[in-house]
Amino acid sequence: MKYCSTRGKVQGLKFTDAVMMGLADDGGLLLPEEIPTFSKEELSALRQLSYPELAFRVLSRYIDDIPADDLKELIDRSYAGFDHPETTPLVKQDGLYILELFHGPTLAFKDVALQLLGNLFEYLLEKTGRRMNIIGATSGDTGSAAIYGVRGRKNINIFILHPKGRVSPIQELQMTTVTDDNVFNLAVEGTFDDAQSIVKEIFGDLDYKEQHALGAVNSINWARVLAQVVYYFYAWARISEETGSEELDVSVPTGNFGDIFAGYIARQMGLPIHQLILATNANSILSRFINNGDYSSAAVHQSLSPSMDIQVASNFERYLYYLYHKDAAAVCAAMDRFKQTGRLEFTAEQIATVQQTFRAATIDDAETLLTIGNFYKETGYILDPHTAVGVAAGRKIRSADQPLVCLATAHPAKFGAAVKSAIGREPELPAALHGIEKRPKRVTTIAADTGLIKEFIDHNAI
Ligand SMILES: *Cc1c(COP(=O)(O)O)cnc(C)c1O
Repeated sequence: MKYCSTRGKVQGLKFTDAVMMGLADDGGLLLPEEIPTFSKEELSALRQLSYPELAFRVLSRYIDDIPADDLKELIDRSYAGFDHPETTPLVKQDGLYILELFHGPTLAFKDVALQLLGNLFEYLLEKTGRRMNIIGATSGDTGSAAIYGVRGRKNINIFILHPKGRVSPIQELQMTTVTDDNVFNLAVEGTFDDAQSIVKEIFGDLDYKEQHALGAVNSINWARVLAQVVYYFYAWARISEETGSEELDVSVPTGNFGDIFAGYIARQMGLPIHQLILATNANSILSRFINNGDYSSAAVHQSLSPSMDIQVASNFERYLYYLYHKDAAAVCAAMDRFKQTGRLEFTAEQIATVQQTFRAATIDDAETLLTIGNFYKETGYILDPHTAVGVAAGRKIRSADQPLVCLATAHPAKFGAAVKSAIGREPELPAALHGIEKRPKRVTTIAADTGLIKEFIDHNAI
């Protein structure tokens, strides 16, 4: 399997090179040259497998430059630390399935990908005698999951930019209480989009990227998307085993379009997903795109689901590449147009194509709280605000005759204040978070200024 860029100037990369490159050198995003497919028989054979076994079946289709035994071992180690034997258990509540993706060390779905990515980096650096400085921007969950993925690892330093005061208190503590020498937290005075565009700019400076051997952990890294493809297969395997049902709908709380893009890839691989339901909060650019073809950015709103407070979704370019029939020149032109005008237009035919796969709904904060409150009353199960956005959208749009899977992207205790205003009490803190506010912290406040941030990295890079 070889990898190429959405912008056409990088081609023929091995998987391991694609992982190490992160953002493609031409400014695009890396994708496999072909999407492998599973036949019906191959899908059926997944039903009996454990999560790591199933992960190996899916990942090995994309990774042919790591020996099978090594890949198995990397997968096993990545999911051994999850606090549930099924890794991503499915829970049935009130006529729908909740796929709990929050059993990793930082209690959000990003651990599923970043535990694997941390192991891949360590493995590849050790093999090649290299070093790496990871730079990433986070709206909350990516940062802590990335930090936990690489803390204390040799030959890696990590610099995580978060928008100061715009992540939940628990998220902030999860990041800043990691005091390993190789971890640098930067509280940027700006929004998540500011932080993300600084990171993109730094990666666009190729001399600088090479000088510091920069690596990415943002959802721009293909390995993250790939790790997330696995749990769509896992959910399908469990449900089809239980009910014999072949098709399902999946509802995905969406910000950067990474998680739902993994669902799109799973669907292209032959997994019978009927509709992918894209759920946004008031930052609705992606649902407007799906419902009306209106892709125009607006100011970022702060919401009760802060990990989805995003207007410019970095993974969207990957989807555009397929929507434009793999025409890299068309992707380049569209990205230029978007940069200049803040909007993209689509033909009726393109919109029809989009709507064959995706449906979308926007759920505001009031409806999010109502959903948490009502779901709790009906079932006793506590949804986190991101998951609630997905549940509310899923219930509006789901097909009558198909199972609905709602991805649960965070543990409710990470967003205790929002949950409390919905159900009148805070969810119980899991053991991993007990006493976190008393631990020592390490964080640097810094202006949203690319030059200053580069200087900081110059001083602290490995
Ligand atoms: C990151 C995140 C999302 C959004 O996922 P994307 O891949 O950015 O679309 C949703 N919920 C939670 C809890 C998250 O951390």
